[in-house]
Amino acid sequence: MDTMQCAVCGSPVTIAEKQTEQDGIFYGWKDVALKDGNAVCKGCAEKTRIVFPLRSSKTFAVSSARFGSGSFNGKTIDGKGWINALADPLEQLTLDEFRQAMQDAEQAAEVQAARFPGARAAAEADFTYRHYIRAGGSGVNTKYSDEKQYFTCVKVLYGEIRPGDTVCITHKDREYTAEVSEVWFWNYLDSPHCAIEKAFAGVTAALLFRKEVPFIYPGDILTVKES
Ligand SMILES: [Zn+2]
Repeated sequence: MDTMQCAVCGSPVTIAEKQTEQDGIFYGWKDVALKDGNAVCKGCAEKTRIVFPLRSSKTFAVSSARFGSGSFNGKTIDGKGWINALADPLEQLTLDEFRQAMQDAEQAAEVQAARFPGARAAAEADFTYRHYIRAGGSGVNTKYSDEKQYFTCVKVLYGEIRPGDTVCITHKDREYTAEVSEVWFWNYLDSPHCAIEKAFAGVTAALLFRKEVPFIYPGDILTVKES
């Protein structure tokens, strides 16, 4: 751990030791060490995600039988398996490039705002799946233990989406709405695995609904209206 100051806003930042074994798992937003030794806080980094989102990658690795298990990107592979990774492209920037990214992000947000008049947030839907929970064990009345949980995975294009927001979807001039119960981070590769307080522009996230959302199709635009 190394305590520094954000080179943009001056707030204290903590740079953790680089993790070698991530396997695509998101542990929450972190302050970022830039390429030139400067650091920026996660709040400043957030403003640039619309142009510098986290990058997911997936690799199928096969270890040589002759050498037994192999190591790839810090993960031990016995035989063969998928290696997921989540990289932060901000780490490749210098401070000057980061400042430029902040300007580019402001422009990108204006462009997106113009696409969705009257909306304070917009997201593009990917797939939706049911997270089906059936409580096990004895003494549990299944009538009350089958919960409806539907996750719609999205990429946020503009603004912020938070729990409690209502998203609108339009099909054939009919408008459908659904209330977002929770917001989870989605790394684009695995099931969502980390609840977050909000999803903002540039972030891939899963929106949890407690009702069916059969009106949401891949490629649909979900908007949150200005109240
Ligand atoms: Zn900052």
